[in-house]
Amino acid sequence: MFFKRKNKYTVYTYGAEILRKPAAGIKEITPEIREIAEEMLCAMKLFDGIGLAGPQYGVSKRIVALAVPGPDQAAVSPGEALLLPRMPMLIINPEIIAVSETADTAEEGCLSITKIDAPVKRPQFIQFRAQTLDDEVIECECGGLLARCLQHEIDHLDGILFVDRLTEAVFSDIESKLKRLKKNGRKKDFKKTIQV
Ligand SMILES: [Zn+2]
Repeated sequence: MFFKRKNKYTVYTYGAEILRKPAAGIKEITPEIREIAEEMLCAMKLFDGIGLAGPQYGVSKRIVALAVPGPDQAAVSPGEALLLPRMPMLIINPEIIAVSETADTAEEGCLSITKIDAPVKRPQFIQFRAQTLDDEVIECECGGLLARCLQHEIDHLDGILFVDRLTEAVFSDIESKLKRLKKNGRKKDFKKTIQV
Protein backbone atom coordinates (compact mmCIF):
# COMPACT_ATOMS: atom_id res chain seq x y z
CA MET A 1 0.00 0.00 0.00
CA PHE A 2 2.97 2.30 0.51
CA PHE A 3 3.90 3.60 -2.93
CA LYS A 4 6.49 6.30 -2.83
CA ARG A 5 4.90 8.44 -5.47
CA LYS A 6 6.02 11.82 -4.27
CA ASN A 7 9.39 12.99 -3.12
CA LYS A 8 8.07 15.57 -0.70
CA TYR A 9 5.37 15.29 1.96
CA THR A 10 3.99 18.26 3.85
CA VAL A 11 2.04 18.53 7.06
CA TYR A 12 0.45 21.78 8.26
CA THR A 13 1.49 22.99 11.68
CA TYR A 14 -0.01 24.94 14.58
CA GLY A 15 -1.18 28.34 13.42
CA ALA A 16 -2.25 27.19 9.94
CA GLU A 17 -5.78 28.32 9.10
CA ILE A 18 -6.76 24.97 7.60
CA LEU A 19 -6.37 23.29 11.00
CA ARG A 20 -9.18 25.49 12.34
CA LYS A 21 -11.65 24.96 9.52
CA PRO A 22 -14.32 22.22 9.78
CA ALA A 23 -13.65 19.66 7.04
CA ALA A 24 -16.23 18.69 4.41
CA GLY A 25 -17.87 15.27 4.27
CA ILE A 26 -16.88 12.95 1.42
CA LYS A 27 -19.85 12.05 -0.79
CA GLU A 28 -18.06 9.94 -3.34
CA ILE A 29 -14.81 8.00 -3.28
CA THR A 30 -13.19 9.36 -6.41
CA PRO A 31 -9.73 8.50 -7.80
CA GLU A 32 -8.58 11.82 -6.33
CA ILE A 33 -9.69 10.72 -2.85
CA ARG A 34 -7.86 7.40 -3.26
CA GLU A 35 -4.72 9.25 -4.27
CA ILE A 36 -4.94 11.59 -1.28
CA ALA A 37 -5.51 8.54 0.93
CA GLU A 38 -2.34 6.82 -0.28
CA GLU A 39 -0.32 9.98 0.15
CA MET A 40 -1.65 10.44 3.67
CA LEU A 41 -0.55 6.91 4.60
CA CYS A 42 2.94 7.68 3.30
CA ALA A 43 3.07 11.03 5.10
CA MET A 44 1.90 9.50 8.38
CA LYS A 45 4.55 6.80 8.14
CA LEU A 46 7.34 9.24 7.23
CA PHE A 47 6.44 11.64 10.04
CA ASP A 48 6.11 8.64 12.38
CA GLY A 49 2.55 9.37 13.47
CA ILE A 50 -0.25 7.05 14.60
CA GLY A 51 -2.93 9.23 13.03
CA LEU A 52 -3.21 11.94 10.40
CA ALA A 53 -6.37 13.87 9.54
CA GLY A 54 -7.10 15.46 6.14
CA PRO A 55 -6.70 19.09 7.30
CA GLN A 56 -3.20 18.31 8.61
CA TYR A 57 -2.31 17.20 5.10
CA GLY A 58 -3.83 20.35 3.60
CA VAL A 59 -7.05 18.59 2.54
CA SER A 60 -10.17 19.95 4.19
CA LYS A 61 -12.09 16.69 3.86
CA ARG A 62 -13.28 14.11 6.37
CA ILE A 63 -10.57 11.53 5.85
CA VAL A 64 -8.23 10.05 8.47
CA ALA A 65 -5.20 7.76 8.26
CA LEU A 66 -4.60 5.58 11.30
CA ALA A 67 -1.70 3.40 12.46
CA VAL A 68 -2.64 2.68 16.05
CA PRO A 69 -0.32 0.04 17.54
CA GLY A 70 -1.40 -2.93 19.58
CA PRO A 71 -3.23 -4.66 21.01
CA ASP A 72 -0.93 -4.68 24.00
CA GLN A 73 -3.32 -6.60 26.22
CA ALA A 74 -5.57 -9.62 25.87
CA ALA A 75 -8.85 -7.93 26.79
CA VAL A 76 -9.59 -5.30 24.19
CA SER A 77 -12.79 -3.56 23.12
CA PRO A 78 -14.68 -4.93 20.08
CA GLY A 79 -13.43 -1.98 18.01
CA GLU A 80 -9.79 -2.65 18.86
CA ALA A 81 -10.25 -6.37 18.11
CA LEU A 82 -11.76 -5.47 14.74
CA LEU A 83 -9.54 -2.60 13.65
CA LEU A 84 -6.05 -2.98 15.17
CA PRO A 85 -5.20 -5.99 12.97
CA ARG A 86 -6.10 -3.85 9.94
CA MET A 87 -3.65 -1.04 10.67
CA PRO A 88 -2.50 1.05 8.87
CA MET A 89 -5.91 1.98 7.53
CA LEU A 90 -7.97 4.85 6.21
CA ILE A 91 -11.42 5.88 7.26
CA ILE A 92 -13.74 8.48 5.82
CA ASN A 93 -16.61 10.43 7.34
CA PRO A 94 -15.93 9.11 10.85
CA GLU A 95 -18.40 10.12 13.53
CA ILE A 96 -18.81 9.54 17.22
CA ILE A 97 -22.29 8.30 18.02
CA ALA A 98 -21.98 8.00 21.79
CA VAL A 99 -19.34 8.37 24.49
CA SER A 100 -18.95 6.69 27.88
CA GLU A 101 -19.49 8.58 31.10
CA THR A 102 -16.13 7.33 32.32
CA ALA A 103 -13.13 9.34 31.22
CA ASP A 104 -9.40 8.95 31.46
CA THR A 105 -6.44 11.25 31.07
CA ALA A 106 -3.32 10.50 29.03
CA GLU A 107 -0.49 12.34 27.29
CA GLU A 108 -1.18 13.30 23.70
CA GLY A 109 0.97 14.73 20.98
CA CYS A 110 0.22 15.80 17.44
CA LEU A 111 2.15 15.87 14.17
CA SER A 112 0.98 19.47 13.77
CA ILE A 113 2.16 20.51 17.23
CA THR A 114 5.76 19.41 17.21
CA LYS A 115 7.44 18.34 20.43
CA ILE A 116 4.66 19.36 22.77
CA ASP A 117 2.89 16.61 24.73
CA ALA A 118 0.24 17.25 27.34
CA PRO A 119 -2.38 15.31 29.30
CA VAL A 120 -5.88 15.33 27.79
CA LYS A 121 -9.04 14.07 29.48
CA ARG A 122 -11.39 12.24 27.16
CA PRO A 123 -14.24 9.71 27.38
CA GLN A 124 -12.76 6.25 27.84
CA PHE A 125 -15.02 4.49 25.31
CA ILE A 126 -16.75 5.67 22.19
CA GLN A 127 -19.34 4.23 19.85
CA PHE A 128 -18.08 5.16 16.45
CA ARG A 129 -19.06 4.85 12.81
CA ALA A 130 -17.05 5.37 9.62
CA GLN A 131 -16.68 4.17 6.05
CA THR A 132 -13.67 2.60 4.41
CA LEU A 133 -12.47 3.32 0.88
CA ASP A 134 -14.18 0.05 -0.11
CA ASP A 135 -17.53 1.47 1.01
CA GLU A 136 -17.64 -0.80 4.02
CA VAL A 137 -19.44 0.72 7.00
CA ILE A 138 -17.69 0.17 10.31
CA GLU A 139 -19.63 0.67 13.51
CA CYS A 140 -18.16 -0.46 16.80
CA GLU A 141 -17.37 0.32 20.40
CA CYS A 142 -13.73 1.30 20.94
CA GLY A 143 -11.61 1.76 24.02
CA GLY A 144 -7.91 2.11 24.69
CA LEU A 145 -5.52 4.11 22.56
CA LEU A 146 -7.75 3.59 19.51
CA ALA A 147 -10.65 5.45 21.18
CA ARG A 148 -8.31 8.28 22.15
CA CYS A 149 -6.75 8.48 18.71
CA LEU A 150 -10.14 8.50 16.96
CA GLN A 151 -11.37 11.32 19.18
CA HIS A 152 -8.18 13.30 18.52
CA GLU A 153 -8.48 12.81 14.74
CA ILE A 154 -12.22 13.52 14.57
CA ASP A 155 -11.51 16.71 16.52
CA HIS A 156 -9.11 17.69 13.71
CA LEU A 157 -11.98 17.31 11.23
CA ASP A 158 -13.96 19.78 13.33
CA GLY A 159 -11.10 22.28 13.58
CA ILE A 160 -10.30 21.34 17.19
CA LEU A 161 -6.77 20.64 18.46
CA PHE A 162 -5.79 18.71 21.57
CA VAL A 163 -4.39 21.90 23.12
CA ASP A 164 -7.98 23.23 23.15
CA ARG A 165 -8.90 20.45 25.57
CA LEU A 166 -6.30 21.03 28.29
CA THR A 167 -7.01 22.21 31.79
CA GLU A 168 -6.23 25.88 32.32
CA ALA A 169 -3.21 24.99 34.45
CA VAL A 170 -1.73 22.65 31.83
CA PHE A 171 -2.46 25.12 29.04
CA SER A 172 -0.65 27.92 30.81
CA ASP A 173 2.32 25.57 31.31
CA ILE A 174 2.72 25.07 27.56
CA GLU A 175 1.43 28.44 26.36
CA SER A 176 4.87 29.95 25.79
CA LYS A 177 5.99 26.87 23.81
CA LEU A 178 2.87 27.14 21.66
CA LYS A 179 3.52 30.81 20.97
CA ARG A 180 7.08 29.99 19.93
CA LEU A 181 5.86 27.17 17.71
CA LYS A 182 3.43 29.53 15.99
CA LYS A 183 6.05 32.23 15.56
CA ASN A 184 8.56 29.79 14.03
CA GLY A 185 5.81 28.19 11.94
CA ARG A 186 4.87 31.51 10.36
CA LYS A 187 8.33 31.73 8.77
CA LYS A 188 7.64 28.44 6.99
CA ASP A 189 3.99 29.17 6.05
CA PHE A 190 2.96 26.73 8.81
CA LYS A 191 4.28 23.75 6.89
CA LYS A 192 6.76 21.06 7.72
CA THR A 193 8.14 18.94 4.96
CA ILE A 194 9.96 15.65 4.62
CA GLN A 195 11.97 14.94 1.49
CA VAL A 196 12.06 11.30 0.49
ZN1 LIG B 1 -3.20 15.76 15.79
